[in-house]
Amino acid sequence: TSPWQQLHATVAGLGVSGAVAARVLLRLGATVTVLDGGTGPALDARAEQLRAAGARVLTGPDADTASGRLPEGTGLVVTSPGWRPDAPLLKAATAAGVPVWGDVELAWRLRPAEGAAPWLCVTGTNGKTTTVQMLAAILGAAGLRAAAVGNVGTPVLDAVFPEDPDAEPYDVLAVELSSYQLHWSSSIRAEASAVLNLAPDHIDWHGSMEAYAADKGRIHHGAKVACVYNSADAATRRLVEEADVEEGCRAVGFTLGAPGVGELGVVDGLLIDRAFIKERWTSAAELASVEDIDPPAPHNVANALAAAALARAHGVPAAAVRDGLRAFRPDAHRIAHVATTGDGVAWVDDSKATNTHATAASLAAYPSVVWIAGGLAKGAEFDDLVAGAAGRLRGVVLIGRDRDRIRAALRRHAPEVPVVEVARTDTGAMEEVVEEAGRMARSGDTVLLAPACASMDMFANYGERGDAFAAAVHARHGQG
Ligand code: ADP
Repeated sequence: TSPWQQLHATVAGLGVSGAVAARVLLRLGATVTVLDGGTGPALDARAEQLRAAGARVLTGPDADTASGRLPEGTGLVVTSPGWRPDAPLLKAATAAGVPVWGDVELAWRLRPAEGAAPWLCVTGTNGKTTTVQMLAAILGAAGLRAAAVGNVGTPVLDAVFPEDPDAEPYDVLAVELSSYQLHWSSSIRAEASAVLNLAPDHIDWHGSMEAYAADKGRIHHGAKVACVYNSADAATRRLVEEADVEEGCRAVGFTLGAPGVGELGVVDGLLIDRAFIKERWTSAAELASVEDIDPPAPHNVANALAAAALARAHGVPAAAVRDGLRAFRPDAHRIAHVATTGDGVAWVDDSKATNTHATAASLAAYPSVVWIAGGLAKGAEFDDLVAGAAGRLRGVVLIGRDRDRIRAALRRHAPEVPVVEVARTDTGAMEEVVEEAGRMARSGDTVLLAPACASMDMFANYGERGDAFAAAVHARHGQG
């Protein structure tokens, strides 16, 4: 019998990652209890499936999550991103010496002892998904069996411990890690790791900016070949300096300017590697052109450089970096071009810009913008964002619950920029937003949906918000 068969595991939270973790633990032969204080049709459906598979599932008041009482005999807690570290159950587990793992920690522990695929790990406040997808495209172009895993696509657990025992194993994994997952991961050792950028986000979960940064920094712990940082973001460099890495592991920076020795950067529109030089007769390797990147906006070039650095750390040749970047297409709602209308106005959906750091990056990509913003601010400050973008704003259309906060920042830093507010929150709201934006825009302008806020006050998620925008643009201007 394996030690798993002796184990009583409690899974905290029945979201997507909790459900996958519970199913894996059941397959290992563990006794599994799943707790989730919520209710609702999606949750009930997952609960039913897990009960059928042999788990004990307690939801709503039955879960008794507030008392901090651990289910009898619990030897391991696997927790979910929605649970803050100060949740009573997690505090009780820690106090009782019961290990608490995230789903990624569980995945790491389940890797085969021999021949397991190495992990190339990515975190950061923004750009994680884009970067791991670019990385997977590059690895694929190099002929490797690779996948982007983590918050999007395949859960890490499925990639490491597939349900189908005959599934062909991966050569290498491009792993997206959130700050939540890193908080509950202590044994992951990346082949190479990258922190793309660091800006305040999710501070309520971590307790402070320092704690958030420290959790992000865990990605470098024990790294083997390279720790990648953003040369323009000193905080990401500090995380590398503070990390306890394997001997011989190198610090590698990426920059949008000319690279120094040991960096990747950009010269005359070309991505240049001066860190991983395999060709002995040159001092730099030409990887790709900025024009190979979709979209070639500065923040996205930074993502491409980070992906390239991780791929090069794995030994991928320069030509595969170029081919992979050419093959990459961004996911929906990330600076997606919706239409260019007859009046010469481009309409762009960056609904995924749900914090000020992301929105600042996408506003910086356009010289003259009608900006659509607002929603749930999550406690953010808008002064720096608005002050930095003031010179590019043709006008602003504000929506959503916390639009007053953005309005106030606009009054302080861009008093001359015209602002229209759309107060309604029904399904027709986005049509009015598009109407107002179209009225402000001039030929050559970009109308940019980059709300700097979460969407849940008006929409189910950022995807629905972006779809509503695109539908309203097409309705106003006709398809095409
Ligand atoms: P994540 O997975 O970290 O949420 P995504 O790749 O999904 O990141 O991008 C989220 C948002 O952040 C998008 O709106 C995008 O425009 C913006 N973004 C992407 N990369 C960066 C970056 N390097 N710096 C700032 N903003 C970025």
